[in-house]
Amino acid sequence: MVCSPCLRRSAVLAAVAPAIARLGLRQHSLLSLLALPAERLLRAARVEDPGGFLRGLQLPALTDRVPTAICRHDRSYPLTLRQLPSAPAVLYGTCTPERLGELFSCSANPKVGIVGSRGLNPYAKQITFALARDLARAGVTVVSGVNEGPEGIAHQGALDGGGATIAVMCCPPDLSHLTWQHHLQQRIRARGTAISEFPPGFFGPQRWSFYASQRIIAALADVLVVVEAGGFTCASLTTKIATELGRDTAVVPGRVTDPGGHRMLWLLRDGAHPVANAEDVLEVIHGAGARGPGLHDPAMSGPALRELADGAGVRGPTPLEVIHGAGARGPAMSGAALRGVAA
Ligand SMILES: [Zn+2]
Repeated sequence: MVCSPCLRRSAVLAAVAPAIARLGLRQHSLLSLLALPAERLLRAARVEDPGGFLRGLQLPALTDRVPTAICRHDRSYPLTLRQLPSAPAVLYGTCTPERLGELFSCSANPKVGIVGSRGLNPYAKQITFALARDLARAGVTVVSGVNEGPEGIAHQGALDGGGATIAVMCCPPDLSHLTWQHHLQQRIRARGTAISEFPPGFFGPQRWSFYASQRIIAALADVLVVVEAGGFTCASLTTKIATELGRDTAVVPGRVTDPGGHRMLWLLRDGAHPVANAEDVLEVIHGAGARGPGLHDPAMSGPALRELADGAGVRGPTPLEVIHGAGARGPAMSGAALRGVAA
């Protein structure tokens, strides 16, 4: 269900997208802009003759590829999204309304958002894939964008693990803005859904819409996992929004010697949970004691991480070795020890 004011607000947002791009707003200024009602949004986007603009506004229509829309007054609109001052007026989806309701239901599977840096090294790719796959096997729904980097890999891992995923698009939900996405998006639509605040047929992705999509990922996720944030400020924005919303955040640490690697340490010092595998994330979701002591999966133990890193050609200490210092190449490190270090 979409009410008329929300549909109109959605149409305004899409129609002024090029004008918003020209403003070149920084991240939080952009989020403030997105919280404005239609008329004020038009003025902020410096649209001449807002009255005439609104009279000529074309309202979006659903299509075969985007058959679902819910506004923020719909019962199935996620409560977690309503927490956002800039909550999207309308969410468009590629699945049926019933399926969208299932995925968004309060009683649905827990949701884990996965974000991070583009240009992951092979080590980080392996970690991301295994993390998402094992989370899906444990019944978690993965939420992410569909971009180069951990987002696309997270969807692939979760789908290979038999799970459903929610792809938050920075363009209309049925649009593939990268060639390689086409097959992945087909898989996502078959098992989960692609969603977007942008209606079908209106415009292609823009830099600001990419930032805007991060707030939806942060709000939908019960836990946000950051893989190698590096210098990628989008992941930093997502993390900040998640923290402001009271979500738990978790970090798969990258090497501190990488460009921007210090950001991971900052996140840990700010209270993010250090995680190396799905069990660690499940413990963040369900609380301490939800699993046994230590890192159960030997593939993710300290020595195994070292082996993974060596195999991927990663020189220097692994993140866990950095956290634990000299001697960390010995026995597998326990999750409790990691939390003690991070505390
Ligand atoms: Zn509404």
